[in-house]
Amino acid sequence: MKFTHDAIVIGGGAAGLTAAGGCALFGLKVALIEGNKMGGECLNNGCVPSKAIITAAKRAQEAREEKRYGVQLAAPKVEWAGVHKHIHDAIAHIEPHDSKETFEEMGCEVIMDYAKVTGKHTVEVGGRVLSAPRIVIATGSEPFVPPIDGLDGVPYLTNENLFDLTEQPEHLVIIGGGVIGMEMAQSFRRLGSEVTVIEPGKPMGRDDRESVQVVVDVMKDEGVRFVEGKGQKVEGSEGNITVHTDGGDTVTGSHLLIAVGRSARVSGYGLEELGIELGRNGIKVDARRRTSVKNIYAIGDCREGPRLTHVSGYEGSNVALEITTGLPTKVDWKALPWCTYTEPEVAQIGMTDEEAREKFGNDNITVIKEGFDHNERAIAEDSTKGHLKVILKGKKVLGASICGKNAGELLLPFTQSITGKSNTFALGSAIISYPTRSEILKAAAFSAWEPTVFGSLPKKYAAFVAKMRRTFN
Ligand SMILES: Cc1cc2nc3c(=O)[nH]c(=O)nc-3n(C[C@H](O)[C@H](O)[C@H](O)COP(=O)(O)OP(=O)(O)OC[C@H]3O[C@@H](n4cnc5c(N)ncnc54)[C@H](O)[C@@H]3O)c2cc1C
Repeated sequence: MKFTHDAIVIGGGAAGLTAAGGCALFGLKVALIEGNKMGGECLNNGCVPSKAIITAAKRAQEAREEKRYGVQLAAPKVEWAGVHKHIHDAIAHIEPHDSKETFEEMGCEVIMDYAKVTGKHTVEVGGRVLSAPRIVIATGSEPFVPPIDGLDGVPYLTNENLFDLTEQPEHLVIIGGGVIGMEMAQSFRRLGSEVTVIEPGKPMGRDDRESVQVVVDVMKDEGVRFVEGKGQKVEGSEGNITVHTDGGDTVTGSHLLIAVGRSARVSGYGLEELGIELGRNGIKVDARRRTSVKNIYAIGDCREGPRLTHVSGYEGSNVALEITTGLPTKVDWKALPWCTYTEPEVAQIGMTDEEAREKFGNDNITVIKEGFDHNERAIAEDSTKGHLKVILKGKKVLGASICGKNAGELLLPFTQSITGKSNTFALGSAIISYPTRSEILKAAAFSAWEPTVFGSLPKKYAAFVAKMRRTFN
């Protein structure tokens, strides 16, 4: 078969851009196909707008806080048009990095249209048939909309239209207390909306429970209302929407946001016809991200597995490397970090203590906990809420959970510990700038060694050296 390209990549989000860009930079002939907006979810409806609104909300909160350290700020006055502009300015600022022109300059043929996989090696797009030895599916995910009675009949928001709101919601009701629900709940509350979160289980269920509790308490203090239950029935009309929960509660707000998770985009573009195997929520892949049709890869949110921008980037570069070199690559999640950008942030890598206890038994793990209330930078900044927990098996780091200001920035040393590129001894004996929040990392790592360093053997040795000095000096 004569191929038109070396690789065809479907989807111009974080995963597809990394895979296509990687292959093109190695000199392969690549077709990159995007049916909607270049940059995908992260740039247009996800990470970027959500982090932009979080920034505006932080500014409002700083002005609102009572403690002012001798500096008087005016009470916040939120102009929604300004918030909206800031969100869209942030997107516009980053847009050129992900644009058609940028990827054409890298050497990709960029086609702006919806693609259909028509065979093991063929893709139809815009009336053309493209072919390649390797195809990469990176079609992403979309908001999961649960089957709630009446939902079809009321206007509701998802992350796809939330950031286009041109007026501030008076009362935002959020169904779902996951990462997106929690970040948006705090932001809208801080910007002045009333906010109610309806969540049946534990908010941010994948994260360390103690860390999540700190965030929930902060959000409650800031005025976010939490209702335990599942949204069972919805009724009302524009500006007046009521949610009835299975617990018998009734919540009425001006706007409703559905934030209960993501569905992989797997239908309507040929996967079924080709017999590509699907899992519970996404395309089935092996560790090399190959689908059941082995020359077709699936990466990022469209396949089963974690859904994060850095995961999409990681898989995109793995697959680009595999396609260009012919050498197999494998994903490894044992040092996968993630962070929820509430204030305080909650960052996690590896296992939580609950997971470690379940896997190795209570007696075989150690949990070291350091509070930010002992960290002098945190004290000087008056932001001592939160802690660091390191989960150890012997001296080996299994995971770490950090709750606090900029927690996401503090995870890197644990990535290196878990992957064996560093260890708790190196971290515990590192010189760290004073005063920084990173000092908490050294304190926790040193705690792991404290019983050894100040144990009976070193003490006996020190006593021996002291005796020698007394005798011979
Ligand atoms: C509100 C929100 C906040 C988030 N915040 C964070 C965060 O802070 N940090 C983080 O790591 N992650 C975050 N995420 C998750 C992150 O956005 C996703 O994991 C990431 O964008 C997935 O990238 P992707 O390339 O797999 O998919 P996408 O970005 O969804 O890209 C897929 C692309 O494929 C295109 N496409 C689909 N079908 C076809 C077809 N048949 N033909 C042509 N094109 C097609 C789509 O138009 C889309 O552009 C957030 C998500 C949301 C919703």
